[in-house]
Amino acid sequence: MFRVLRILCVTMLLRCPACQRGQMFRTLFQMNVRCPVCGVVFERDAGEVTGAMAINTALMSIMAIAGAALAIVTDFPAGWIIGGTAVVMVLFGVFFYRHARAVWVGILFLTGAIFEDV
Ligand SMILES: [Zn+2]
Repeated sequence: MFRVLRILCVTMLLRCPACQRGQMFRTLFQMNVRCPVCGVVFERDAGEVTGAMAINTALMSIMAIAGAALAIVTDFPAGWIIGGTAVVMVLFGVFFYRHARAVWVGILFLTGAIFEDV
């Protein structure tokens, strides 16, 4: 359990889950194909980015539900709540994108789908 938390924390810091030193991203939105330190391939198969999209979508859905609950519970104007929730969701989706991809790589690493080549 401690290993799982450690790997997920390391990937949230955008570091390689295998060596925990290499940076996963070379630019704001471009992931390295391989870890610059240990050489592990981060996304072996095409389409593995969809896991990160699922993480982002799930978290944004929770935000939408929280926004709807806020609109029901409070007396705030619904238009402001809808607009504010939409802005927060878009900003979160953009800024959390790298972390969602990195966490997904960490999950793949924990399940054995990402491994060091020997
Ligand atoms: Zn590495």
